[in-house]
Amino acid sequence: MKFIMSIDCGTTSERCMIFDHQLNIKAVSQREFKQIYPKAGWVEQDPGDIWETLLYVCRDALTKAGIRAADIASIGIANQRETTIVWDRYTGKPVMNAIVWQCRRTASEAEKLKTGGYSEKIKLKTGLIPDAYFSSTKLKWILESDEKIRKSAKNGDLIFGTVDSWVIWKLTGCKVHATDYTNASRTMLFNIQEFKWDEDLLRTFGIPKSMMPAVLPSSGYFGETEESVFGKPIPIMGAAGDQQAALFGQCCHQPGQVKNTYGTGGFLLMNTGNRPVFSSGGLLTTISCGTGGEPGYALEGSVFVAGAAIQWLRDELGIIQSAAQSEELALSVEDTSGCYFVPAFTGLGAPYWDQSARGAILGLTRGVGRGHIVRAALEAIAFQTEDILEVMRKDSGINVSRLAIDGGAAQNNFLAEFQSNISDVEIIRPACVETTALGAAFLAGTGCGFWKGLDEIKDYYKVDRTFSPSMSISERSRLLSGWHDAVKRVLCD
Ligand code: ADP
Repeated sequence: MKFIMSIDCGTTSERCMIFDHQLNIKAVSQREFKQIYPKAGWVEQDPGDIWETLLYVCRDALTKAGIRAADIASIGIANQRETTIVWDRYTGKPVMNAIVWQCRRTASEAEKLKTGGYSEKIKLKTGLIPDAYFSSTKLKWILESDEKIRKSAKNGDLIFGTVDSWVIWKLTGCKVHATDYTNASRTMLFNIQEFKWDEDLLRTFGIPKSMMPAVLPSSGYFGETEESVFGKPIPIMGAAGDQQAALFGQCCHQPGQVKNTYGTGGFLLMNTGNRPVFSSGGLLTTISCGTGGEPGYALEGSVFVAGAAIQWLRDELGIIQSAAQSEELALSVEDTSGCYFVPAFTGLGAPYWDQSARGAILGLTRGVGRGHIVRAALEAIAFQTEDILEVMRKDSGINVSRLAIDGGAAQNNFLAEFQSNISDVEIIRPACVETTALGAAFLAGTGCGFWKGLDEIKDYYKVDRTFSPSMSISERSRLLSGWHDAVKRVLCD
């Protein structure tokens, strides 16, 4: 068997990639599926649609690769996290649409947890901050939406799962009801210190324990696909939430290694090894994929506006034609001429936590032109990333040794170089930017012995470019203090 099948069940599309032993991509198939917006702020998806789309991309990838199920050693799954599905264990029918992680319908319920004094308890048990984002309030909402649903759940007829559980259930012909540690850690129902569903939290949210999936290591045997799915059973040997899969796919297997995805926003995860680090700066503590299949820990933080600042320059100001052009313009000037851009379009997250802050461009003088402003926008992406890295360093006491980058804006060489300088870290940009899919493949491939271990994978993980810091300490602190002054001027709370 020469290949690993990696499935990425994303928020807007499903993707299947087939990797060979040297990590070459043999085939890719991707298809979008429908997003449903029943009311302002509500986001749903049809679980049937998720499954049909997944089946299509997997079969299509097999056809494109010109191979059969018998050629696949195992399957790995990465998925959008927190999205909540409830279905009938006997008929396999979902009771309603999936409530997507972005859905804000339970915002007031989450707020009640905060005002009710649950924050500290939830943080210690789950590593999370009460928010509608996570699965628990969504699941409670489903159970309370209909008396019949509530009764069936109580009788043990209904089961819950995030998207990984749902597709594992479908792939195994409705036989396996399981999730992995990383996905469990995003439900706000899983005790990340005791590695089990938390009875106390289940009671708090009124959720029968019988609904909960078995929690398994991210790398290991979940079950095998039913024969009719691909013509021959294939073992499912890996599953993880998308961000954790990307951390693993970026080969950040050691404590202190961090990955950042520069997309619309930025997603930073730091491997903290076998130690859960509880943040003083409002970051999340989450479960990561340990090197031997066992659960490890990570700190997670996000930058609300990263590549979106570049989109804004393109679409609203019209001072660049394409996102890629930002690199050339930033390099056309020597510095920002004292200009700072704070892209607080939707407030500021860690470490400032100011929802009312709004964006600003500061330090304007007559000589500031579009090159300076574009450069200031790219620098702002790096400054915000550094702010989170600094919280991670303080919280964990671990010095950051490596920042692996991916996402659309990671292609920008100016940004990568500036990040390396401002954070004083070595930046690694891999040749294969499909790090989520890669992570799922690593989990599945090491789980089934396709690769002997992580050392073998590292031989195949190819680096596109490395950026090493060359800025003086005084210049770094001058720029950072200018940034912090600029941020101070937009804070409201
Ligand atoms: P998402 O998955 O969040 O949609 P992507 O990883 O596809 O995001 O990245 C898209 C974002 O990256 C956009 O906000 C875009 O402005 C930004 N981007 C893409 N290419 C570049 C570039 N060369 N330089 C700076 N920003 C870029």
